[in-house]
Amino acid sequence: MKVLCILYDDPKGGMPSSYPVENLPKIEKYPDGQTLPTPKGIDFNPGELLGCVSGELGLRKFLEDAGHTLVVTNDKDAPGCVAEKELVDADVVISQPFFPFYLTKERIAMAKNLKMAITAGIGSDHVDLQAAMDNKIDVMEVTFCNSRSVAEHIVMMILSLVRDYHNQYRIINEGGWNIADAVQRSYDLEGMHVGTVAAGRIGLDALRKLKHFDVHMHYFDRHRLPESVEKELNLTFHDSVESMVAVCDVVTINCPLHPETENLFDDEMIGKMKKGAYIVNTARGKICNRDAIARALESGQLSGYAGDVWFPQPAPNDHVWRTMPNHGMTPHTSGTSLSAQARYAAGVREILECLFAGEDQRTEYTIVKDGALAGTGAHSYSEGSATSGSDQITFGSGPFQAIITTD
Ligand code: NDP
Repeated sequence: MKVLCILYDDPKGGMPSSYPVENLPKIEKYPDGQTLPTPKGIDFNPGELLGCVSGELGLRKFLEDAGHTLVVTNDKDAPGCVAEKELVDADVVISQPFFPFYLTKERIAMAKNLKMAITAGIGSDHVDLQAAMDNKIDVMEVTFCNSRSVAEHIVMMILSLVRDYHNQYRIINEGGWNIADAVQRSYDLEGMHVGTVAAGRIGLDALRKLKHFDVHMHYFDRHRLPESVEKELNLTFHDSVESMVAVCDVVTINCPLHPETENLFDDEMIGKMKKGAYIVNTARGKICNRDAIARALESGQLSGYAGDVWFPQPAPNDHVWRTMPNHGMTPHTSGTSLSAQARYAAGVREILECLFAGEDQRTEYTIVKDGALAGTGAHSYSEGSATSGSDQITFGSGPFQAIITTD
């Protein structure tokens, strides 16, 4: 089979010769008891860069030894790009949400051999799921691999915004020491009302982590959590996003992007929020309306906005979220820490091993199977597509580095 893998650029200075931490901590299970990826083997050192072109998700030896072809590229956006050219006879395409290869309806139509699209991470909204269903292309993702990584990032971002860390860090870098400047927007999180839109793997983990900050916690989800969990965390459930945002000082967004959630945070929804609230969105950029967020930060309706998800990705150089006031944006990094990379590289390997052996895939990794939403996909997504607009991307925003082919 031919496996096409789209990965982000290598570090500008080349691959690191050493890493700050020598060994990753050993984690056996996720909090709900799900096991970590269990491939038959791995050909990489956990803790090394795997998500970039030269990292190859650690797949090359495994694929070549089994007689398959691996093509790795970071040239993914412009019409006629390497990824598009290689897609025409690819059997499997692997892409990461951090640097998504938008598998639109048009691209799916080009890919006559395509059997499976694998998300090396979580969140398959870069795939037109409706077109995948219509063309009987299975879609898989490595459920849970980076959920807890993202939850850590959410806590970091909430604290950074509320305490106004970025401003204080900037003052120090500029050689300053004006304490009044540094604290005029700085608060304690303690006592605030914090709510999550969705309490799935990430949302719930973020709530568990936030419990220790003595905040009042709220959530909205399509399905209610067990009563025991609500009690344990002293959660207030809301039956609508509107009801929750009206009482929260901090709102974190943790639902998948699908037609139901696209543009959820527009002028109208932001207008229903408490004045001066903060938003942390590590789910998907398109859940928030780009210009409405910038306007709300300018007007003071929002005190801060942070997260790591944009639309499209890479974000154009002139994307207003790069320059709007009181933001804490990062490139899409929360789910691609070196720790997370080791888990999703192993998960991709496990999915490929099952595919090649004709074995059943884990239901928790399954998004689309045999032309329908299935497994996790049936629970978390809705039918339809949320990929439109991906052509707004700035072509050539990253230098083309390598195309590595083996036959
Ligand atoms: P889960 O599937 O565990 O949780 C998603 C939750 O969202 C489920 O509880 C689901 O509800 C809920 N949900 C779905 N639609 C709605 C809706 N319309 N309104 C409210 N809740 C809704 O996924 P994760 O928590 O692991 O990940 C969530 C999302 O975070 C991913 O889809 C991805 O987009 C993003 N993500 C971002 C990463 C990053 O690096 N920034 C990395 C990983 C994920 P229910 O199941 O009850 O119907």
